[in-house]
Amino acid sequence: RILLTTVLNLQRESIKGIAITVQDITREVELNEAKSQFISNVSHELRTPLFNIKSFIETLHDYGEDLSLEQRQDFLQTVNHETDRLTRLVNDVLDLSKLESGRNYNFDRVDLAQAIEQTLRTYQLNARDKGIELIQEVAPSLPFVVGNYDLLLQVLANLVGNALKFTQAGGQVAIRAYQLDPKPKSHNQSSQVRVEISDTGIGIAQEDQQAIFDRFFRVENRVHTLEGTGLGLSIVRNIMERHRSKVHLVSEVGVGTTFWFDLTLFDEEPSIKVVEPTAE
Ligand code: ADP
Repeated sequence: RILLTTVLNLQRESIKGIAITVQDITREVELNEAKSQFISNVSHELRTPLFNIKSFIETLHDYGEDLSLEQRQDFLQTVNHETDRLTRLVNDVLDLSKLESGRNYNFDRVDLAQAIEQTLRTYQLNARDKGIELIQEVAPSLPFVVGNYDLLLQVLANLVGNALKFTQAGGQVAIRAYQLDPKPKSHNQSSQVRVEISDTGIGIAQEDQQAIFDRFFRVENRVHTLEGTGLGLSIVRNIMERHRSKVHLVSEVGVGTTFWFDLTLFDEEPSIKVVEPTAE
């Protein structure tokens, strides 16, 4: 009987082992599929600007003498725009793959007020050119949070950049940051700082509000042709996952959008240094 029990136990163990292996393989297959899908999307996205650049340069080369100065300048400007688009795309793809590569980022004490200030300085001119009011409402003596300064700067830049892109002249874009009410210690929850980026822009329909975080997803609309890669929000989501946080949004078409996320206070959890990457 002892022998039989041992055999049964061994079998059970090995069945458990097989089940785990099958699960691992499924995950690997899913990851590989996601990767091939990504590569195929990237190739597709790269092809368009490359094709445009090549066509315009060929035309300039073959028929340049037949074109007026104005036409030639027009062509060169298109080539220039397409090169910018290509650069943005390559930069975004590199950022995303770096984030997903499992590389460890250093998490430390971050002065969010400074990051917000820096972001607003970067976008000040852009907002003024577009006739959009940039508003900053940062609570005085905002506490430090745990994070990676450069990554958080990128989140702010992507969200403020989008807010400006999808808001018309005369509109407003605001960044707010404030400490949430501290939770009682007994609930084992740290208090947090909330950051909100809101705009009075075109808004996002309910049915698109999840999909906008997918790579290359862009809502079909008049503004679609504007500069953009469809990767910005995937990068934002990924960075927030690294901070063990989530990006939320509320939006109404024609009224505006608010994206928000929470970050942990530095004092509460100074031990966070490395956050495991999450694979999609
Ligand atoms: P993109 O490079 O196109 O901005 P993102 O991933 O940053 O890519 O955003 C995906 C899509 O989500 C955008 O193309 C746009 O349709 C929508 N979107 C993002 N932010 C806003 C916003 N603040 N207002 C309206 N639509 C937005």
